[in-house]
Amino acid sequence: MTAQIIDGVLIAREIESELKIRIGKLAFKPILSVIQIGDDSASSSYIKAKAKAANRVGIELQHHHLPIDISLTDLNSLIDKLNSDSNGIIIQLPIPETLLSCLTRISPEKDVDGFHPMNLGLLMRGEPTLLPCTPAGIIELLQRSNYNLNGKHVVVVGRSNIVGKPLANLLLNKGIDATTTICHSKTKDISQHTKSADIVVVATGYLNTLNEDMVTENTIVIDVGVNRTDDGLVGDCAPNVANKVKAITPVPGGVGPMTVAMLMSNTVSASEQ
Ligand code: NDP
Repeated sequence: MTAQIIDGVLIAREIESELKIRIGKLAFKPILSVIQIGDDSASSSYIKAKAKAANRVGIELQHHHLPIDISLTDLNSLIDKLNSDSNGIIIQLPIPETLLSCLTRISPEKDVDGFHPMNLGLLMRGEPTLLPCTPAGIIELLQRSNYNLNGKHVVVVGRSNIVGKPLANLLLNKGIDATTTICHSKTKDISQHTKSADIVVVATGYLNTLNEDMVTENTIVIDVGVNRTDDGLVGDCAPNVANKVKAITPVPGGVGPMTVAMLMSNTVSASEQ
């Protein structure tokens, strides 16, 4: 059997069309400020993709490219200025650990990456807030593909603060109503969990974390991983997973475009406030 491919590019474009209509109703062009620190090449390519999406929907993306040795004081001064000049602000990760505290300097209502502890707290309480883009994109991807999450068992492999943990919390919220299991590098016999799942989300950043012996013909797989290999970008699933499961997201072209679309969506929501 070949799995149904869940097309993130198509669904992201659908979301962009809806955003253009919302932006058309604003009295101003939304401004998204993107802060890049250093010259990480993956960060540069992610920012390029964000700039292209911003251009398509009508958001002005302002790119602030800072040297790797910027001081925390100077960085915080820039964030203070952008808190009053922009509708949304993101800091492209990774950044040096000594600067990480700057993430909480962004006003929660401008935190369009949804990483601020205040926004994460609201998410956990099931209250409206700016949601982290990748988890929100995964929920949209499943719902818009008509996969009902109500009562489904979703196994999330990976427990990071930007993907695994917020996703598991979102899935648990009333209105989504999934039952969630979170696995990580210390989980014993991950396949015992994944084989009993309706949906498996794999977000580890390691090749072949999920193989065909860990899934069934009925599993829906969301592959969040981005691994750079000699053959190009690949996800966290072994290639033969797609020959067995019911549906799967491709890498590239699955979760990545949805993450960008949700960043645009958060920027529009922040602009509407
Ligand atoms: P982190 O490195 O922060 O977290 C990885 C998680 O995976 C950790 O919780 C780790 O467990 C767990 N893990 C590692 N190896 C295994 C294993 N063999 N079995 C089970 N769990 C394991 O990564 P991120 O969450 O930030 O990102 C994960 C992947 O998703 C990366 O490839 C990243 O590039 C990609 N990504 C893609 C996005 C997109 O838009 N497409 C957006 C964000 C991320 P432990 O905590 O025990 O160490």
